[in-house]
Amino acid sequence: MNNIRTLSLALALILPAATAFPAPAAERFDIAITVDDMPSHGKLPPGMTRLGIVQAHLATLKAHGVPEAYGFVNAGRLADDPGNAAVLDAWRAAGYPLANHTFSHLNLNKAASLDAWTADVIAGEPDVAARMQGADWRYLRFPNLAAGADRERSEGALAFLAARGYRVADVSVAFSDWVYTDAYARCVAKGDSESVAAMKAHYLKAVERGIAGMKAASRQVYGRVIPQVLLTHLGGWSAVTLPDVLDRLDAAGARYVALADAQADPAYREAGSGSVVTRTARKKGIRLAGVDGDGDGAPALDIGRLCR
Ligand SMILES: [Zn+2]
Repeated sequence: MNNIRTLSLALALILPAATAFPAPAAERFDIAITVDDMPSHGKLPPGMTRLGIVQAHLATLKAHGVPEAYGFVNAGRLADDPGNAAVLDAWRAAGYPLANHTFSHLNLNKAASLDAWTADVIAGEPDVAARMQGADWRYLRFPNLAAGADRERSEGALAFLAARGYRVADVSVAFSDWVYTDAYARCVAKGDSESVAAMKAHYLKAVERGIAGMKAASRQVYGRVIPQVLLTHLGGWSAVTLPDVLDRLDAAGARYVALADAQADPAYREAGSGSVVTRTARKKGIRLAGVDGDGDGAPALDIGRLCR
């Protein structure tokens, strides 16, 4: 006996036809949005500006009612272009916070030493702190989500961050938007709209699979859908696709929350490399099942070779 079905039938008898069978509401889940590589991620597609990219992100996030979105800054990129400072200022003017992603996007696993890496963290602070007077900027997002390849470096980095008052900004879900960034710039430069359309179809299919996979993996590891933290990047590709990504998250039941609220969940107690779900699965000896239908209608696409 299917009680839900019985209830639906009962309701159908008593409700007006128009509301008898509303689309089932997706189970709600919390998600914090975070945006990396500010002020500039990847190649700039012709016809776009860094300021235009940030404004597009802000318009999309506001349109979807995102109350807070941390922007993680590589302050070293400010010297690339005098206009890049305005990108960070626009983020603050919109009421969103900034935090540290190291000065030069230095991967902890590849840094010459722990000291070299901590120096890069410290060098990244002034441009963020100056724009965050009286607000909490002491979050660190590890470049490439690399939290140290060996125990000594990993523990050294976490001890340094804790002593300096930082919390680690973790990640639970990403859709690999960064993979498409440079190919998008190349295809736009060539005026190859067919390839751009193929990339979009490919990406949005991957996003849909990614959202389903995010829920499935969370249920497998924690027995529930934990509050999520999405990682995306401040590049041209993400600017044009974020509206479609957030539409899909909305449809999947997303409720946008602050990073601190998402990370208040016990799932985020221990920082580390990569996604919190993946590394927790590894630690618990759980093999993530993944989602059926890899390649279910998604065209194979060699993004690295596209529009060369
Ligand atoms: Zn990054």
